[in-house]
Amino acid sequence: MEVLNVDTCIFCEIITGRLPGSFVYRDQTCAAFMDLQPVNPGHLLVIPNQHSASLAEMDLDTGAHIFKVAQELAAAVRKSGLRCEGLNLFLADGELAGQEVFHVHLHVLPRFGGDGFGFRFGPGYPVVREREVLDRDAGLIRAVLKNQ
Ligand SMILES: [Zn+2]
Repeated sequence: MEVLNVDTCIFCEIITGRLPGSFVYRDQTCAAFMDLQPVNPGHLLVIPNQHSASLAEMDLDTGAHIFKVAQELAAAVRKSGLRCEGLNLFLADGELAGQEVFHVHLHVLPRFGGDGFGFRFGPGYPVVREREVLDRDAGLIRAVLKNQ
């Protein structure tokens, strides 16, 4: 795993100071800064200091730490005076999931009524799955967990 990828990764450039960032938090494992194109004011990104393109590349302890920091930041955003009536923690893993910068980042996204942001369901949703199908799919995932 690469520690830093400063020639191709904008987040590594921010971490190293080659590009500016408006940081709210830094420690040995991760950093948090303002999203340059915020969905709403106060939109933060929490990223590992060590370059990881995807969840699969990032170790579990780092992931746990990033979530813990995001939870603390969410509480801070709510108390900051910025408009925040709700909040999303959002992580896109892979291009089809909406990931645009391939350095893992957890969004801390303040929300308020009428902000215009939202998730869109596909056509045909909701589909209530039969228990048999849910149990089969759960079995597929359990089988992988057993072998990890
Ligand atoms: Zn990076």
